[in-house]
Amino acid sequence: MVESATLVWPDEAATQTFAQHWATQPALANAFVALHGDLGAGKTTLVRHLLQALGVTGRIKSPTYAVVEPYELDALNIWHFDFYRFNDPREWEEAGFRDIFASPGLKLAEWPEKAAGVLPVADVDLHIRTRDDSSRSVTLQAHTAAGQALLQGLPGATA
Ligand code: ADP
Ligand code: MG
Repeated sequence: MVESATLVWPDEAATQTFAQHWATQPALANAFVALHGDLGAGKTTLVRHLLQALGVTGRIKSPTYAVVEPYELDALNIWHFDFYRFNDPREWEEAGFRDIFASPGLKLAEWPEKAAGVLPVADVDLHIRTRDDSSRSVTLQAHTAAGQALLQGLPGATA
């Protein structure tokens, strides 16, 4: 079983190719993916390509102020979190985030570090780093069987 993988995304088109591959994976429908990386690394860009590949139409806004944006597809619920402004752990209960993470569906979270004490273990931790030539170096770590399934057969992966 693959537990980690490394990718290079030379440009945004490569990010999109990756998203289109992941969108075909059954394990994604119930996964929690934590997205790590500096401001501008490409976390939101990946989420946008993923949501579009899964069939979300219309505007996909960054949830920085709302903390979470929900998307309801016919057979799939998706929640896009951005915990950048999350600083009160009480919000975890009050805003219903605990219930969301206990529900079936895809959970994508930017800035998971800001909610480290309350977030469950991610199926996949995905780290994006910008290199000098502006390409992205991406590492994926699986922590569950579902996460391991998502690391199988990635386009351009080196173990
Ligand atoms: P974050 O959410 O991590 O703060 P954004 O996705 O908002 O970052 O912004 C990333 C920026 O970098 C966007 O302008 C996007 O077009 C660009 N970008 C995203 N992925 C790549 C890539 N693989 N290679 C080069 N540029 C990228
Ligand atoms: Mg972002």
